[in-house]
Amino acid sequence: MVVAICYNSRMDDFSLPQVDSGDASPPPVGRSLFGSTPDELTAWFDQHRQPKFRVKQLLEWVYEKGAESFEAMSNLPKTLRAELANSFSVFDSEIVTRAASKDGTVKLLLRWPDGQTSECVLIPAEQRQTACISTQVGCAVGCVFCASGLDGVARNLSSAQIVEQAMRVRQLCVPERLTNVVFMGLGEPLANYGATVSAVRTINASWGLGVGARKITVSTVGLPSQMRRLADEGLQITLALSLHAPSDSLRRELIPWAESVSINELVEAARYYFDKTGREVTLEYILLDRVNDQPPHARELARLAKSMRSNVNLIPYNPVPSLPYGQPSEKTQQVFLKLLAERGVNTHLRKSRGSDVAAACGQLRRQQKA
Ligand code: SAH
Ligand code: SF4
Repeated sequence: MVVAICYNSRMDDFSLPQVDSGDASPPPVGRSLFGSTPDELTAWFDQHRQPKFRVKQLLEWVYEKGAESFEAMSNLPKTLRAELANSFSVFDSEIVTRAASKDGTVKLLLRWPDGQTSECVLIPAEQRQTACISTQVGCAVGCVFCASGLDGVARNLSSAQIVEQAMRVRQLCVPERLTNVVFMGLGEPLANYGATVSAVRTINASWGLGVGARKITVSTVGLPSQMRRLADEGLQITLALSLHAPSDSLRRELIPWAESVSINELVEAARYYFDKTGREVTLEYILLDRVNDQPPHARELARLAKSMRSNVNLIPYNPVPSLPYGQPSEKTQQVFLKLLAERGVNTHLRKSRGSDVAAACGQLRRQQKA
């Protein structure tokens, strides 16, 4: 599977209309519906002596119709709408910036009631509408090439906030359906495990966004115990492992958290994921000019990829202002791809969407803070 992705892109060609936020809407009164399961809602409806079929109606308003307010839910009695509004909220975020590219990619910067911001992106392609969403405000890992971790992590996003990003992106695709969701925005999903898995379930659920499990990808920098735990969740989602280097020494130069995790441990965890789910793990490999893009790296990567059931996604680096890394030449990329392909590794070179798509995740947020 080749997922066109949010970070593999450039900022330059964006028009960046600042969406006028005006007066901030009142803070939410209650718990977000995006973080509530049908069971929890049923319990609330029981307590409020409401028939169960109203839960279904409510969920249809929330997920199918994407209602932005309780007033809009016209087939629910007015009194019920008022009670709901006292206990729950829907759409807590405000769109601060909407950056639209000529090719249809749209990146949103959302502000949450506590003032923190996060990014999400719609990446449209033929027959596919992909949402790239964040799991944390910033990132604690601090990979040397990544914009998201430059200022550390401010906080986790809640499950509701993760789901809300997918809903915000879905609003952008209408009348098309949202077909794919990738957890590849700001943050390390498996460092915010509970919220990430709840959000995956809601995004996948038939009562929720209804995105097929196989069309949902969670990308991790590589936390072996959490990868195993994810394998045991009974989900058929794709796990993408950000490998980026074929040796521990090089990986440790790029990814601070690799100091305490060896590639061998990651290979074991990836094997476990395949054994439990039957899903091949995707190895993500950023191509950084003259850092990890040489033929010996490709040969070693091929050996690793073949030691487990995996496929490789090569990602030409999207340069981040202020960081000293560049994208290898087209020729270097092709040589690297060929070395893997001729060793029988199922490899995709992510097509750069030219100069006409969104910036690396984390950049919009930094730009706004500057
Ligand atoms: N923290 C998780 C998920 C978010 S990052 C992870 O690291 O996997 C999603 C992917 O984007 C990772 O593979 C990451 O290495 C990659 N990435 C980050 N910055 C990038 C950049 N400037 N250009 C290309 N890929 C980038
Ligand atoms: Fe965090 Fe992933 Fe960026 Fe590394 S690449 S700093 S883990 S978001």
